[in-house]
Amino acid sequence: MANLIADYNDKEVILLEAGPDPTGNSATEFFLSGLSLQGGELDYAYPSEPVATTADRVHYLSAGRALGGGTVINFGGWLRGDAADYDEWAEVAGDERWSYQGLKPWFVKSETFYDSGADPQEHGFDGPMYVTSIAAAEEGQRKYPLRETIKNAWAELGVPHNIDRKNGASVGVNEMHENSDKKGMRQPSNVVYPLNRVKVFTNTPVYRVTFDDTKATGVELVDGRKVAARKQVIVSCIGPSADLAEHGIPLVYESPYVGQNLHDHYAIHLAFRLRDPSLGYAFGNAGFQNPAFLKGLPWDWIANQPLPEELLSKHQHDTKPGWEKRNVYEVLTAYVVPGIPGIPIDGTHIATSTMLLLPTSRGTVTIRSSSPTDLPLVQPNYLSTQLDRDALVHATRTTVKVLTATESLKPIVEGESPPVKEGLEGLTPLTVDTSYEVILERLQRTGEQHQHSGGTAAMGKVVDGEGKVLGVTGLRVADASIIPVPLGGHPQASLYAMAEQLASMILADS
Ligand SMILES: Cc1cc2nc3c(=O)[nH]c(=O)nc-3n(C[C@H](O)[C@H](O)[C@H](O)COP(=O)(O)OP(=O)(O)OC[C@H]3O[C@@H](n4cnc5c(N)ncnc54)[C@H](O)[C@@H]3O)c2cc1C
Repeated sequence: MANLIADYNDKEVILLEAGPDPTGNSATEFFLSGLSLQGGELDYAYPSEPVATTADRVHYLSAGRALGGGTVINFGGWLRGDAADYDEWAEVAGDERWSYQGLKPWFVKSETFYDSGADPQEHGFDGPMYVTSIAAAEEGQRKYPLRETIKNAWAELGVPHNIDRKNGASVGVNEMHENSDKKGMRQPSNVVYPLNRVKVFTNTPVYRVTFDDTKATGVELVDGRKVAARKQVIVSCIGPSADLAEHGIPLVYESPYVGQNLHDHYAIHLAFRLRDPSLGYAFGNAGFQNPAFLKGLPWDWIANQPLPEELLSKHQHDTKPGWEKRNVYEVLTAYVVPGIPGIPIDGTHIATSTMLLLPTSRGTVTIRSSSPTDLPLVQPNYLSTQLDRDALVHATRTTVKVLTATESLKPIVEGESPPVKEGLEGLTPLTVDTSYEVILERLQRTGEQHQHSGGTAAMGKVVDGEGKVLGVTGLRVADASIIPVPLGGHPQASLYAMAEQLASMILADS
């Protein structure tokens, strides 16, 4: 067996990536063209097991399969969670470095905000990742026609504009932040963080980590080659432990929480029919033709909300103190229909994504067999708690209320258009008066995951506060799987901050 490291003695780090180097694939450059990559060769699109609580459907969990991982195919949303989410992470991990204050220097280090309105107390201005609000993008030319109307509609429901997320508080109508360079182009992680001191192998899937007793000594590749580690192995994609004995895999150390605690953001996309499409409010109509509108995805505003008191009082036993202020769901507006079956992308509809940010449901990831090429068994258990069902039904009803029953939007939106597809017969348009049962059924039959999974190698249970796997030596995990609790934002901003902090810990160790 070749020992790869022998040939690369001058490099401190070897990066082994299962997928290809996507450089030169023009579809990855812009976010709109990137939509075509979903489900293709750069996307694992792991099929789940049928989920009993979502009408026995199989969900496809998207994840990037390329150098740069998910940053090559993601949508570019750059949305931190609420400060309380990180404080919960720190509490669970028993390590203050993961609290909001602990992470803040790393958030700041990773970012260059090029939005002149950004608060210098909260954001960074000379980091590698370029971030802007949609309103400030393209020198202010990307302000979509319904921008003020949508903000006013939320204000009618008493949801205020949260201008600067002071002290990391995200409740309210927030600016949509996006990671893209000043030309509106994607910044994949492997480009922004140059790999010139790293020996990179693409199309090189790892089969397993090799051990000497409980010390990680390197990895074995799927093709049988071995890579010896001089210092440590860092896994940036963690697999399951599951029932190792059943699959004839020798046990190194029993870590029962590996593969448990899968948390993910479950969401519903809704399409709202415009009364007069000729006004050019949505992508697909000739009036929606400002070229700046298409630099990045045509989306806007993140309305972040806690649950109302009457709902929380029903769930006192399932929630923790302080939940009345937690940011439990988000509603995002899109001026393009995000692939809702049967709804044309012709400027006749705008859309929303209503997402449960702090689910209490947890799933599992386990192995199907000992073969490294077999897909894992994923059971996400979406909506498996009453709290999650109640919260997302409430969030969906609120979305319908804002879009169809506010003075701001009533003159513009005619109503909700349910998806049309074989197997989805019998769906009726949602209104503010639609019953709980009908909304829940819609969520179960048409909701989808939002590519935000994590938690299966949770900090505090599987790894310590520095990503080191408990019970063994020489092995770290540095990916979304170590985040122990769901975060009320979109993951990449937190993941870059986490990676910056982990990198500093790794350097301090060596
Ligand atoms: C379609 C899509 C849209 C998204 N949109 C957004 C968004 O707008 N905003 C946001 O914040 N987040 C978004 N995300 C989520 C975000 O991109 C992910 O949370 C993030 O990329 C996860 O980072 P990670 O380092 O944990 O893992 P990944 O980025 O998934 O990286 C894991 C890497 O490990 C490699 N790998 C896996 N198995 C092996 C093996 N056996 N051997 C060698 N290599 C292996 C993979 O090929 C991959 O490159 C989106 C994700 C997707 C898929």
